[in-house]
Amino acid sequence: MTSDVAAPAADAPGDYPLRKTYVVGFDGATWRFLRPLIDRGEAPNFARLMAEGAHGELRSTIPFQSAAAWVTFMTGKNSGRHGVYMFQDYDALSYSYVGRTANSRYFSGQTIFDIVSQMGGRVGALRVPMTYPAWPVNGFLVSGFPTPGDTPESFYPADLRSELGSSGIYDESDFRTLSTEQQVASLDAQMDRMSDLVGALIGRECDLFTVVHRVPDPVHHFFIKFVDQRTPAYDAEEAQRWGDVVDRFYRKMDEALGDVLDRLGDDETLFVISDHGGAITPPRQLNLNVWLAKQGLLTVKPRAKSARERLYALNQRLMPARVRALLRRRAPRAVQGELRGMWKGLQEIDFGRTQAYHFPMKCPPLAGIVINLRGRQPEGLVSPENYETLRSEIMRDLQHLRDPRTGDMIVDAVFRREDLYHGEFMERAPDIVVWCHGMYKEGPLAQGPLVGEVPFDEILQVPGSHDEKGILLAKGPAIAANRTVEGASLIDMPPTILHAMGLPVPRDMDGRVLTELFTEGTPAVETADVTLERRSADNFLSEDEEQQIKEKLKGWGYL
Ligand SMILES: [Zn+2]
Repeated sequence: MTSDVAAPAADAPGDYPLRKTYVVGFDGATWRFLRPLIDRGEAPNFARLMAEGAHGELRSTIPFQSAAAWVTFMTGKNSGRHGVYMFQDYDALSYSYVGRTANSRYFSGQTIFDIVSQMGGRVGALRVPMTYPAWPVNGFLVSGFPTPGDTPESFYPADLRSELGSSGIYDESDFRTLSTEQQVASLDAQMDRMSDLVGALIGRECDLFTVVHRVPDPVHHFFIKFVDQRTPAYDAEEAQRWGDVVDRFYRKMDEALGDVLDRLGDDETLFVISDHGGAITPPRQLNLNVWLAKQGLLTVKPRAKSARERLYALNQRLMPARVRALLRRRAPRAVQGELRGMWKGLQEIDFGRTQAYHFPMKCPPLAGIVINLRGRQPEGLVSPENYETLRSEIMRDLQHLRDPRTGDMIVDAVFRREDLYHGEFMERAPDIVVWCHGMYKEGPLAQGPLVGEVPFDEILQVPGSHDEKGILLAKGPAIAANRTVEGASLIDMPPTILHAMGLPVPRDMDGRVLTELFTEGTPAVETADVTLERRSADNFLSEDEEQQIKEKLKGWGYL
């Protein structure tokens, strides 16, 4: 049942009796690691939340990557409407990435923090990704990853910066080059600072308190090699030494959850979420441009292969574990970096003679394909009348693609972009989204093998990536106890949070209220027209800030 009410004006607080709500986000947290810990009694706070509330899987966005996912969490809208697909969006019109990174001025649409503020509620938002630069809300905001560091623009109100001192912003610059000991120490320090930050601000008057802990994401990215033998980066000796490190951080997450759970009053609601899950970086790669060339749809610029390219191609072949181990110890960091940086250099495509090309989504096992459309791309040659036929043919043929070595099917699903997105920013999405089997990621080559091994150095640098399965737990006066729910998505969180707070849900949100979380007898969902004009999406950061943010993203393996 839906009833319509008008949204109250900003200066009319108290029209709604707000029920205080907490949201604790754990970036990338997955049931895969959490559930065994709960079963062994090592995550008592999560266990309590499961018994006293509802829980289930929370499906991420596509791509299941922090930038798109957290903006969807804040806006309740799909990427086609808020405009963020990746940390750095691909621009089909220029055949390369857009020069700027996604940030709070880049995406379009109101966030849940703006909506609650508008309805007279007070909000606190701590380190939610994609909230740099901070902006005015009815309450306080500390920007989340990525930020250029502890700058005045990281805080609202600005004087929060001096109040918080060292518990404010802290992002290590280059994480990849640290030793495991240093990485563990750095993540420990981050969790401690987050605990200080929460401690400093959780007691303030607030109707919606949101905090996001980023640590589980790098824990997966860098430490999954100690617990998952399917990654070529697995090393029995190292696993012996570091095998507990993933669980160790999950136990710390449980403690962080306890800090909030202990404060939760009987009439208050808590949601625990993650924006996606964690998985190994797929060991094999599909070079879609090689396939498109074989189909006669892509032409490579003729030129001599460099020694580096030959090395890269060689590196793609299957390497025995012993050779890999040797390479791991011998390869200097600089060489590793160079191999990674070759991605762009290999994209030597003659666009004037190409009908379709690979669009890097940087979210394994996803990949994109863009049609080179006349009137859209500068060298577009596919006529609009032929667009749909060509797209359908590519999608059909992709589904029959097999790994020449194993005979296995490679592609699990293919989507037209309008199957996944709608809205004014759909042009930023590729025409086709390819979802490969979990053992395959997109490869950079336009010449060479169709399928190869991901270069070992590349896997070693970032052995873990994401999957689409996040976590959801909820507890509160209107939340059912000991209930398992299915079919929840991240995009449903803003409407669900607003409903739990006793607020109407803006009609233009793409998600739905997860009514299955609530007990019978909970008031029906109210909807409202909320038209708040957010600041223009055309305000960008200074070049300096851009550069610092890009360095951070690279340093953590996101770009
Ligand atoms: Zn994330």
